[in-house]
Amino acid sequence: MPHRIPLVAGNWKMNFDHLEATYFVQKLAWSLRDVRFDYKRCEVALMPSFTSLRSVQVLVEADRLNITYGAQAVSVTAQGAFTGDVSADMLASLGCSYVIVGHSERRKYHPEDDANIVDQVRAVLAADMQPILCVGESFEERRQGIELDFAVGQVHDVTRDLSEAEAARLIVAYEPVWAIGTGMVATPETAQDAAKAIRDDLRKSFNASVADSVRILYGGSVTSKNASQLISEPDVDGFLVGGASLDVDELATIARLA
Ligand code: PEP
Repeated sequence: MPHRIPLVAGNWKMNFDHLEATYFVQKLAWSLRDVRFDYKRCEVALMPSFTSLRSVQVLVEADRLNITYGAQAVSVTAQGAFTGDVSADMLASLGCSYVIVGHSERRKYHPEDDANIVDQVRAVLAADMQPILCVGESFEERRQGIELDFAVGQVHDVTRDLSEAEAARLIVAYEPVWAIGTGMVATPETAQDAAKAIRDDLRKSFNASVADSVRILYGGSVTSKNASQLISEPDVDGFLVGGASLDVDELATIARLA
């Protein structure tokens, strides 16, 4: 039986300045300490804005917290005349473990097409971090009944040029677009079907070892009310949490249930 440590990652999106971020991390660490949270059983990660990363790093290092963190996006270029961009090496030097790549909000509001997403994944891997690759169908694709092919295809487009070793370091977040921020959470069966289809495709494209090591998260209106049913599915290895990750108690409860 493959052993994948569940990951609960809070995607703060464009919320919290660096002071609020610091306060949140302290409160979360206290709250998890109070319940003797076992970080070996479930990893808890936060994805703050770029402007809060240094503050989170300082706090995590000073207090030796077990909380990990990462960024919400990355430039595909290493350096140079790209005003406003942040490189993978810059993020790695801030202690980031993860970078979210291809979130549906980035695909929608920024010129991030498939080719750009592949390049982001490569940049993240080259800087020794792990990409959290977001995939998932819109309501229209679900209506047409092509949701599984769509999500698997999005992963496939990224992984087809990766080596086995690179693919094994990927984290996939299945986030149906219709579930993000809407309160319409996928059923556990829907999340499992997608996660299993993605894992089966990894097994076919690479091998069992890659398929068994990739953590596949579910994202889309996860709360403390629905987390335990979702996590009981065999191929769901944790969550990418948006709205509920802005509330310490909610996030701590989701982590305890995962
Ligand atoms: C997200 O944006 O990654 C997300 C899952 O958001 P929410 O939990 O608010 O649906």
